[in-house]
Amino acid sequence: MSKQSVKTLFSLEGRVALVSGASRGIGQAIAAGLAGAGATVIGCGRSPRSASTPDGAVVYRQCDVTNANEFSTLCDGIRQQHGKLNIYVHAAGITLSDSNPAERASNFDRTLEVNLGAAYRCCLAVAELMSPADGGSIINITSIGSVLGFPGNPGYVAAKGGLRMMSKALALDFGARNIRVNNIAPGYIRTDMTEQSYQDPVRNHQRLERTILGRWGEPRDLVGAAIFLASDASAYVTGLDLFVDGGWTAKGL
Ligand code: NAP
Repeated sequence: MSKQSVKTLFSLEGRVALVSGASRGIGQAIAAGLAGAGATVIGCGRSPRSASTPDGAVVYRQCDVTNANEFSTLCDGIRQQHGKLNIYVHAAGITLSDSNPAERASNFDRTLEVNLGAAYRCCLAVAELMSPADGGSIINITSIGSVLGFPGNPGYVAAKGGLRMMSKALALDFGARNIRVNNIAPGYIRTDMTEQSYQDPVRNHQRLERTILGRWGEPRDLVGAAIFLASDASAYVTGLDLFVDGGWTAKGL
């Protein structure tokens, strides 16, 4: 294969992408990465503005993914302006502390709502913007918690495990429409979500020790995986979990 053909394989020129959870952290890095690969990228989050993106490559819109009307308006805008969508990344997600017993049940429900229920509704909505001729790629951001139990946050583990399997079910349901659905499962990545454990020397060391590569991940570590799953390089890949976890899930003793 020629150098040019390989470049084309990973290029996102002419593609339109939407990334939720793009105001910061992993979603923001992926949105900027997809733009760097040539896509026109719209990012969204509840914050009025996103943390700055290199050279303003990502158009940012305020949208709460749990609000079906807001998400539908966002999709309508994309249809009007671009006429299509090729790529959707669901990076919007929350983790809620389980330390207060009085809040456990409501935290569980809220986590399921944002991390799983909203993801399902967003997938249904974006699929309507994807055409069989062009094809589509949906990437859901799960977690190593989608296959492993972690203490103190059953809602998060349940939601990510559910999201993992939902992607496989949708890969089947959407396959005939030429829409691929895959998961990226990050390990511990340094973002606002994990800053407390990063700053805690004991928990920081525990997490470091569990990886094979001996370091925490950075949001930019997710970019290559996202470009792969969004591009023609993964044209025959659907229903997959791609772990970007520094070897966490592979490590035994
Ligand atoms: P983060 O820095 O806390 O960012 C979370 C993102 O989700 C923000 O952009 C936030 O934006 C957005 N968000 C939350 N609720 C939303 C809603 N209702 N509607 C729209 N956007 C919403 O966390 P992160 O680490 O980047 O996490 C991104 C994804 O990766 C999450 O799904 C998380 O579960 C997953 N993940 C993270 C790690 C890790 O180690 N960091 C590991 C595995 C999986 P607003 O606050 O502006 O709404």
